[in-house]
Amino acid sequence: MQLLKGLPAAKKITAEVKEKTSKMSRPPKLMIVRIGADEDALSYENGAKKRMEKAGIACEVRAFDADVETEEFYEAYAALNRDPETDGILLFRPLPKRFSMEKIEALTDPEKDVDCMCTVNMGRLFLGQEGFKPCTAQAVIEILKYYEIPLTGKRAVVIGRSAVVGKPLAMLLLSENATVTVCHTRTKDLVERAKEAEILITAAGQAEMVDGSFVSEGTVVIDVGINVRPDGTLTGDCAFDSVSEKAAALTPVPGGVGSVTTSVLARQVLEAALKKGE
Ligand code: NAD
Repeated sequence: MQLLKGLPAAKKITAEVKEKTSKMSRPPKLMIVRIGADEDALSYENGAKKRMEKAGIACEVRAFDADVETEEFYEAYAALNRDPETDGILLFRPLPKRFSMEKIEALTDPEKDVDCMCTVNMGRLFLGQEGFKPCTAQAVIEILKYYEIPLTGKRAVVIGRSAVVGKPLAMLLLSENATVTVCHTRTKDLVERAKEAEILITAAGQAEMVDGSFVSEGTVVIDVGINVRPDGTLTGDCAFDSVSEKAAALTPVPGGVGSVTTSVLARQVLEAALKKGE
């Protein structure tokens, strides 16, 4: 079985971004916006900062206290969206319930929305137009491309239909001419549907729920899930040993899709700056 590590794909994308940023008059700038200090968010933030540095992208963090007033936050967030020095903004979600995502969306400049959070960019994606892609979903496509796994005409099955991963991923796979099935908690005969896949992508957020019985011989399996075991270690949606007995290729967790996400983010910050004519 081929292990599809994310790092080589991440390094390739980072090098391509770095080559371009090194020729620019000023580095593109990403603003990470965070409320509170969630451990997962901090860990992603650290990874993102390192990746931006390697890609030649300036990265700043605007952190707000967990109990920040909603109006104070909206005002500051709006100002960042207007700031000409800021090319891309990554807002960590989910936000505390007192914030209105509708209001935040109205304050978001779609041209700085480098993780494809707002309806304008999601609409562009669904219509097959140019624009920012949700970084994790795009990272799946980047891994498949890096390892030269063809998508045209292939039966792709996605387990998960969230707005952040499953749905946009289905659209990206369609744009690559795959024949796509999207499965979710109400899907009947999930195992049967999964077994039809030539490319199986798991984004359910259920630790090791997918074992070898879901996988036909020779399937390429991309595991998007990041789940924390009771002992604090990370695992994917796939039971690694069991799936690797059947799969032709599988991404590890950690070290798979997650490692490519921030390089996609870097590339989209570069694109945002270039679009502005920087
Ligand atoms: P989510 O909880 O919003 O969505 C999960 C989806 O999976 C839902 O659509 C649900 O219908 C489906 N699902 C859940 N249990 C199922 C089951 N038993 N059978 C069939 N379908 C089932 O999660 P999300 O935000 O889409 O994230 C999915 C996973 O990807 C999580 O583990 C998350 O941590 C991970 N993730 C990874 C990255 C990365 O960079 N690698 C980024 C974002 C999310």
